[in-house]
Amino acid sequence: MERENFTRSILAWYDQGHRDLPWRRTKDPYSIWISEIMLQQTRAETVVSYYERFLGRYPTVQALADSSEEELLKYWEGLGYYSRARSIHKAAKLICSEYGGQLPASLEQLRALPGIGDYTAGAIASIAFGIPAAAVDGNVERVICRYDALKDEVGTPAMRREITQRVQALVPRDRPGAFANAMMEMGARMCTPRNPSCLICPVRESCRGLAQGIAAQLPNKKKKKPQRVEHRAVLLVFCADRVLIVRREEKLLGGLYVFPDVLGGGDAAVLCAHMEEKGVSCAYDGVLGQAKHVFTHIIWEMEIHALEADACMDVPGGMWATAQELDALPLPTAVKRARELAMKRLKERERR
Ligand code: SF4
Repeated sequence: MERENFTRSILAWYDQGHRDLPWRRTKDPYSIWISEIMLQQTRAETVVSYYERFLGRYPTVQALADSSEEELLKYWEGLGYYSRARSIHKAAKLICSEYGGQLPASLEQLRALPGIGDYTAGAIASIAFGIPAAAVDGNVERVICRYDALKDEVGTPAMRREITQRVQALVPRDRPGAFANAMMEMGARMCTPRNPSCLICPVRESCRGLAQGIAAQLPNKKKKKPQRVEHRAVLLVFCADRVLIVRREEKLLGGLYVFPDVLGGGDAAVLCAHMEEKGVSCAYDGVLGQAKHVFTHIIWEMEIHALEADACMDVPGGMWATAQELDALPLPTAVKRARELAMKRLKERERR
């Protein structure tokens, strides 16, 4: 009975008013899928413009499958976590070859697609297909841990199973999609990570975490390791009206273009020697600026240097880009400042 009351209260609260987000106005499985992938690690308010632009360019799974990876990454530029974009590209191709371009209406088949884990499969299944599946993300995990006063450390397989079972028992058969959205809304607007709004919460009377005075300390999360700081010299190597960019193959930022860089930095001689090894003879031209980018596990502290190449020599995986090309190619936010500085210089050169 208490579980039923919880579900009823959460849905009633959601029905009274919630954020008007574009993916809540549709039941189209493809649109729901894209929104859910974008919402992983990114705030809903930030996602809105990316989502609209993305669906404008790729209105169907087929259009997405037919895109080049480079163009897709350009549409993803700024959202970060680029492996998400590569996974949806792979999944789109599979959906076209295996399911005729329509997302499968099955939790198991959704979960088998690249980039779709338990949460995303549950969200698509419940919101788009009305399947009473549990969708447990960090927001939902927090609400349940607090409501049921679960003190064990989250993130372990046992706790994941435990929380999923608890959520599964709450999902109403008649409105699973609304319930999934309502729980996410609860986590984002009411049971927030800091300062939860317990005084106006629709389930405050039965919340065990609140009754025990421990709500704000839950969920019990393992302490994160401090991020590793990497110092990097970012090299803007100019040649006539072009600058050198290289396609990154490493897992982090793979498929995107970046400027050559030297881990650990170095003086003018070290930076020129680095380019000489790649077959580009350069003269050093000074420091242009600094930048910092915080990834989940690493922080890049960057110093941005200008170098002048003797000639636009071929570099493996490299490209001598004009200002226009630099603007059109997918570059990660991590090198945003370096790109701005490169663009400024290239435009000055074009005017000469
Ligand atoms: S009463 Fe407070 S801790 Fe409990 S579910 Fe509501 S907002 Fe969260």
